[in-house]
Amino acid sequence: MSDDIEKVALVFGGSRGIGAAIVERLAREGYAVAFTYVSSESAAYEIEEQVIARGGRAKAIRADSGKADDIRAAVSTAVESFGKLDAVVVNAGIFRTATIDAVTEADLDEMLRINVRGVYLSIQVAAGQMNDGGRIVTIGSNVAIRTGFPGASVYQMTKAAVAAMVKGVALDLAPRGITVNNVQPGPTDTDINAGGIDTLSSMSPLKRVARPAEIAGIVAYVVNDEAGYMTGASLTIDGGFTL
Ligand code: NDP
Repeated sequence: MSDDIEKVALVFGGSRGIGAAIVERLAREGYAVAFTYVSSESAAYEIEEQVIARGGRAKAIRADSGKADDIRAAVSTAVESFGKLDAVVVNAGIFRTATIDAVTEADLDEMLRINVRGVYLSIQVAAGQMNDGGRIVTIGSNVAIRTGFPGASVYQMTKAAVAAMVKGVALDLAPRGITVNNVQPGPTDTDINAGGIDTLSSMSPLKRVARPAEIAGIVAYVVNDEAGYMTGASLTIDGGFTL
């Protein structure tokens, strides 16, 4: 633990894709960044090493967002490692597709467990240890507004729940000056879309998908002091996909 750290962030799901870009961006902004992973241990430690090699501070923590005990341990480890908590980004999420005739009970439960229950518990636990005036950001999805293709009903439901959740939580945490906002990316170049990038690009008005760094840039703005009057909002960054 060090006394000279100005700001500390915790990113749930920071080992790959959008979450990894958020870890890197916040580290470049001067945050000490703790982040979780569930299975990608080597990727997580590589990111930790890269941030430290650039003179930053990072800590990879194994924690399954489906398990409340893991979430509690991750928040405690972040605070023990860096001394406090100013910003939390809840990015961990899973995407499984099937039309309603084929959705299994297991997939339904797992998506609700990670994308809704896990998000809520992450916010709840982190808020309990966070400084007043802190920032909470969820990563929802533009499919909360419009999906446009079959097979995503459960995922769409989970992301709509996140957009609704931040409104109520924003009101609960407003007396402490903590803002709670939701960034809704459109199709982004990550493992989640493996094999589908060309199709998604052709469907996009801008004829490309987002780069993870573009989503991280919005998150960096939302955690900034300048964004202090925005709370309960969902910000869509999807290249015009849902227009
Ligand atoms: P990736 O699959 O590339 O990465 C997912 C990240 O979340 C990984 O770091 C993964 O850890 C972590 N994660 C997954 N499950 C858990 C869990 N149970 N506990 C802890 N961490 C977990 O996904 P993306 O970067 O594409 O997506 C990130 C977020 O953005 C998700 O919430 C997704 O729904 C949302 N999103 C993505 C879009 C896209 O087009 N890519 C569009 C709109 C929203 P590990 O590496 O250990 O598996």
